[in-house]
Amino acid sequence: MDEWEPIPISRLSHAAYCLRRAALLTNEQLWSESADTAKGRLEHKRVHTARVERRGEAILLYETDVSSIELGISGKCDCVEAHGDPLGCRAPGIDFPVRLYPVEYKHGKLREEEEYEIQLCAQAMCLEEMFHTNIPEGAIYYISSHRRLPVPLSRELRERVVETIRQVDEIRKTFRTPAAVFGPKCVRCSLRESCMPQLKSSSQDYCRRLAADAKAVIAE
Ligand code: SF4
Repeated sequence: MDEWEPIPISRLSHAAYCLRRAALLTNEQLWSESADTAKGRLEHKRVHTARVERRGEAILLYETDVSSIELGISGKCDCVEAHGDPLGCRAPGIDFPVRLYPVEYKHGKLREEEEYEIQLCAQAMCLEEMFHTNIPEGAIYYISSHRRLPVPLSRELRERVVETIRQVDEIRKTFRTPAAVFGPKCVRCSLRESCMPQLKSSSQDYCRRLAADAKAVIAE
């Protein structure tokens, strides 16, 4: 294993949605595209081009790499707005002090989702470490509805980020996949066919063993 193998920030969002989902992605490298994830990926693609734009007084940095050694995470910010502020920090390529404001793009309509807020807050905490600054607020921008939801980066939300990192780290260290708990979130989950959340965990293990055996036979 690498000396420093950061947890992808997007994995925190999956973990906050469902810890089992994060474990299936981390330990079993499962991924399945649903209509929702495909739409999100296409909408994201449109904004996911690294570039710098000036909009009025603000400079917009798209697709900014972020990481935190202290937290052990890394990822990308969809957009970091840099607003001129004499009390702000220095950012690369900008020759005046700025206040940073991260914005995460999501498809669909405006809704409050804790997993998105955790992802945004983790990005902000990386920016704070990288640029020695404080970021009290960010926003989630809903592409389909063109609505922007401001998110205060509270102490409670930051503690949730740290706790989610701890949970994902434990999953990858122990290779433990939590049992499924069937609920409304499963209906929208692209992994439900692999996860089989309505089966008892003993049946899930049995099905997994059968699938692994079948793969081994095919490979012979
Ligand atoms: S189907 Fe349900 S339990 Fe399984 S990973 Fe998805 S959200 Fe979690």
